[in-house]
Amino acid sequence: MTITRAIRKAFLAIEQSEGAGARVRRSIGTPQLRNFSPFLMLDHFTIKPGAGFPDHPHRGQETITYLLEGAVDHEDFAGNAGTIEAGDLQFMTAGKGIMHAEMPRQNADGSANVGMQLWVDLPEKLKKCEPRYRDLRASEIPNIDIDDGKVHIKVISGQSHGVDSVKELAYTPVWIFDIDIKPGGKINQNLPEGWNAFAYTLSGSTSFGVGADKTSVGQFHNVVFEQKGDQIYAEVEDGAKENGRFCKLTFFPS
Ligand code: MN
Repeated sequence: MTITRAIRKAFLAIEQSEGAGARVRRSIGTPQLRNFSPFLMLDHFTIKPGAGFPDHPHRGQETITYLLEGAVDHEDFAGNAGTIEAGDLQFMTAGKGIMHAEMPRQNADGSANVGMQLWVDLPEKLKKCEPRYRDLRASEIPNIDIDDGKVHIKVISGQSHGVDSVKELAYTPVWIFDIDIKPGGKINQNLPEGWNAFAYTLSGSTSFGVGADKTSVGQFHNVVFEQKGDQIYAEVEDGAKENGRFCKLTFFPS
């Protein structure tokens, strides 16, 4: 028997300044959502030309960066360098510590570089591990269409509708999907019981939950689910003007 999870809480991620001239909508790691182990922080960032995140340290955690628009160059003090472009991800295990810079591409048309960055706490035994990087290119991400083509799922990490992602991306077993639902579309996404789970809405208006629990949520919200239940249900109203798009993340609490 499957049980659909109810929403524990849904709230708008307010935009604030961060780094050197960057703007972020932070949801995890604000008074609205703390102690959501192992998730430490979630930022939906917008970096215009001239802004960025100059040299800064990380340790004892992993960061997962998903670029939605533009490109971001990354360079650390150990000489590791690379660029992620729209649709790519970088999984960075800071472990015992790194010092790096994340700087946006200077787009000729002045457009911003947009993405999401999640910070995940490492378990005690991995806190001092050697730093590691793993880039995941958009072309490596399997995807699947369901509900007669009304729902498109990018299986970034984990399993959805029989499709498995690339393995061993992060040390922490996080599941990540980018789900786009056309008006009239619906999805049931399985997830293991007891895993902490949330969705971050990127556009449109999406309903989560069933029956009396059904709640419609607009863009730029963090939707935190109850731990009880082994699936999440989402749909976009027939006749809606926009697709509903969100990223759903789950993790087994350590
Ligand atoms: Mn950083």
